[in-house]
Amino acid sequence: MKTYEEYVQDLLKMKPNIYIGDEVVGRDDPRIQGGMRIIKETYDHVNEPEWEDVCTATSHITNKKINRFTHIHQSEDDLLKKQMMTRQLCHRVGGCIQRCMGIDALNALSVVTYEVDQATGSDHYQRFLKYMEYFQENDLVASCAQTDAKGDRLKRPHEQEDPDQYLRVIETREDGIIVRGCKVNITNTPYAHEMVVVPCRYMGPEDKDYAVAFALPADWEGVKLLTRPANFRKSKFYEAPGLEIGDAETFIIFDDVFVPKERVFLNGNGDPRQTPYAGFLALMFAHYHRHSYTGCKPAVSEVLASAASLVAEYNGIENTSHAKDKISHIIGTAELVFAAGESSAKHSEKAPSGTQVPDEILTNAGRRLAGEMIYEEYKILSDLSGGIIATLPFEETFYHEEVGELAMKYLKRNPRIKPEYMLRCFKGIENLGVSDLAGVMQVAGLHGGGSPQMETITMMMRYDTEKLKDIAKYLFGIKSKLNPYERPTVTPRKQLEKFRKAMISKRERENQ
Ligand SMILES: Cc1cc2nc3c(=O)[nH]c(=O)nc-3n(C[C@H](O)[C@H](O)[C@H](O)COP(=O)(O)OP(=O)(O)OC[C@H]3O[C@@H](n4cnc5c(N)ncnc54)[C@H](O)[C@@H]3O)c2cc1C
Repeated sequence: MKTYEEYVQDLLKMKPNIYIGDEVVGRDDPRIQGGMRIIKETYDHVNEPEWEDVCTATSHITNKKINRFTHIHQSEDDLLKKQMMTRQLCHRVGGCIQRCMGIDALNALSVVTYEVDQATGSDHYQRFLKYMEYFQENDLVASCAQTDAKGDRLKRPHEQEDPDQYLRVIETREDGIIVRGCKVNITNTPYAHEMVVVPCRYMGPEDKDYAVAFALPADWEGVKLLTRPANFRKSKFYEAPGLEIGDAETFIIFDDVFVPKERVFLNGNGDPRQTPYAGFLALMFAHYHRHSYTGCKPAVSEVLASAASLVAEYNGIENTSHAKDKISHIIGTAELVFAAGESSAKHSEKAPSGTQVPDEILTNAGRRLAGEMIYEEYKILSDLSGGIIATLPFEETFYHEEVGELAMKYLKRNPRIKPEYMLRCFKGIENLGVSDLAGVMQVAGLHGGGSPQMETITMMMRYDTEKLKDIAKYLFGIKSKLNPYERPTVTPRKQLEKFRKAMISKRERENQ
């Protein structure tokens, strides 16, 4: 397994293709160091006895010990450990751990490439396994590029005025494909080794050129990363791990890019029979990513609840009933979201490829709750902190020769707390709640992994409402087939079958 230092060396060898404002920069740019600092946590703990169990796994390809962020889940236990690892690592960085997207996409590909091969006689799964072995051996970090620019939201890819609004194959050759398009809002790519590219929606027969999946190094010829970094404001006077972090979101331009055949995992342009699997893959990535959210989002909530509890103490209001009540709402959400993910692992099933797939309804229910509550949680933190988190003078002012002491004096609230700690607490919450990066994290909490409406659609596609109605029919004396012991959602064993049917059957296609 790789060390953080080796990861940094890998990045420094990459070509500069990061566009920040009017500059083109490489991986040594200070504005992406905050993101790299987050990835550090995913490398640092693999050999520590108390972390090893959650942070490593055994490869089903080579049987070697690997970083869990490069693992294809083989069991319920794998899903549970991934969820726990995510929660614990997110505590250490005060939010998103940023390494889950790539491996979530690879888990989705492990399910779908196998099924495409079974249906069409292609050899995508073997290619995928070879790629996966390379990925695991080199302990790589990947982003997942799913979200397309999408143009007119109500039009399908082939109906768009500009055909490049969704990433597409413009040519299939003997040795690979040429792709053109732009994936937007993509996290971590400037400090990832690789990008895993998957479709973002169902594709009908006329959309066959858009049914494409592949992986490429993030500095590949023709790839341009239009990046917006955001970082917390560090302290000049003390060290604090929670202030070191950052994020980078990117528009990835594919300017007629060649993808070698061994890195292509779906291509409706080369074989139209593969087209319906685009929707299956899109949903599968969203599914794995939403399951990862049931690990990270509870941690985000706990970070907010933790800051809210601390500031309540520092403000001298921690024993008031309203403060306790508000904090309990955040904790309650965190635990429910985590429980949904745990339960979805317990109700998981094996795909034909051997990959373990979490329960879809439970995962989506957890992820949607997290998304809906995110602004409420920030509201509670802001409520208990008071307005100072938005008005705090710059840190240097508190150490200024002339006004520093005065500034500290007027920070004082709880007599038991040193003004210097008051300052650290307010500065921490200023970063967490009202900084540039805080804004990004709030929107990520809502839209990342799909807007709440997408989770609703996915849940309701799978939820058996006929069975649900049986409860009312039974209670109201109307003839019903109610089996009181059966959960009204789909039974876990049929979940994948329903997935496939929804994405692939002709009737569904026409209804889209
Ligand atoms: C911080 C951050 C990080 C992200 N990281 C990644 C990443 O790493 N990889 C990745 O692939 N994506 C990533 N995303 C993208 C994320 O998945 C999308 O933002 C999300 O899926 C919503 O898509 P959108 O932004 O295009 O919103 P839109 O689709 O434009 O949604 C706007 C509104 O329009 C509604 N809407 C859209 N289409 C329709 C329709 N046909 N009919 C009715 N209503 C409609 C939506 O429900 C929503 O209310 C990230 C997003 C954020 C904010």
